[in-house]
Amino acid sequence: MAATVIDGREVARLVREEVRQEVEALVAQTGVAPGLATVLVGEDPASAVYVAGKHRACAEAGIASIHHPLPAGASHEELAELLHALNADPAVSGILLQLPVPDHLEGSALTALIDPEKDVDGLTPISAGRLAQGVPGLRPCTPSGVIELLRRHEVELTGAEAVVVGRSDLVGKPLAALLLQGNATVTVCHSRTRELPDACRRADVLVAAVGIARLVRGDWVKPGAAVIDVGINRLPEGLVGDVDFDGARERAGLITPVPGGVGPMTIAMLLRNTVSAARAQALVRAPS
Ligand code: NDP
Repeated sequence: MAATVIDGREVARLVREEVRQEVEALVAQTGVAPGLATVLVGEDPASAVYVAGKHRACAEAGIASIHHPLPAGASHEELAELLHALNADPAVSGILLQLPVPDHLEGSALTALIDPEKDVDGLTPISAGRLAQGVPGLRPCTPSGVIELLRRHEVELTGAEAVVVGRSDLVGKPLAALLLQGNATVTVCHSRTRELPDACRRADVLVAAVGIARLVRGDWVKPGAAVIDVGINRLPEGLVGDVDFDGARERAGLITPVPGGVGPMTIAMLLRNTVSAARAQALVRAPS
């Protein structure tokens, strides 16, 4: 039987609506709307589109957004100064440094300058450490979007075999940590993994985050598995994922399409992180 196809746009809409209500409640309580500061260095058109999408989503949710465009030649020192100013600004609840940055800059060194309490992308070393230790903190948006999709479709993680293909700091590693926190038995695969198809065939929950179009074939999917495709590959015929969707949906129980699966969840989780950060900061500021 063909798999149920997850509607990521609909789940993202529900999350965004929840965030909008949380923002309303927070404004009623504190009189202040959460604020997201975005920092974009240079004029990469794809990055500009992503940032514009984030601002639109913020506006719909009632989150103030403040954009800080910097010229492509901006120095590390200029960026560090801006990030320190945003860290200190009480109107800024969350800071997003749009990656990648131009080659003369080091994205990870700049990201590390963001106050972990405002790290709505969840990518600073402190946030990564909090996630690894399983203590509260802001989690990376795409991996938490994957967990949200699984949760809303009542996929049982406890005791499940979860296989994550990809081990990037952005997706694979944090997702593996979140699945482990959900009590799954987690295998992380990468470019040096031997017998990748066999590893995938063990998965009750199979996540592909690689960046190779249709790498995961239909016959790598365990019958009834939940298959989550994080990949975004631009081919002449359009956007395709890392999973051979047509083959995999014949065997999977649940599957995400590309586009319209994980993609829309990333911005929704960014908004959720921003309102969570704002709430935590309001609590710290509130007189005891
Ligand atoms: P990276 O390029 O940083 O990481 C890719 C990972 O895939 C690496 O760990 C690499 O292994 C592994 N890999 C490469 N080739 C193979 C192979 N043949 N077999 C098994 N593993 C392999 O990518 P990201 O994690 O940043 O992104 C992955 C995909 O997800 C991309 O398509 C990206 O566009 C998409 N993406 C989608 C988002 C969304 O919102 N939906 C957000 C972020 C990313 P190794 O470590 O050994 O090199």
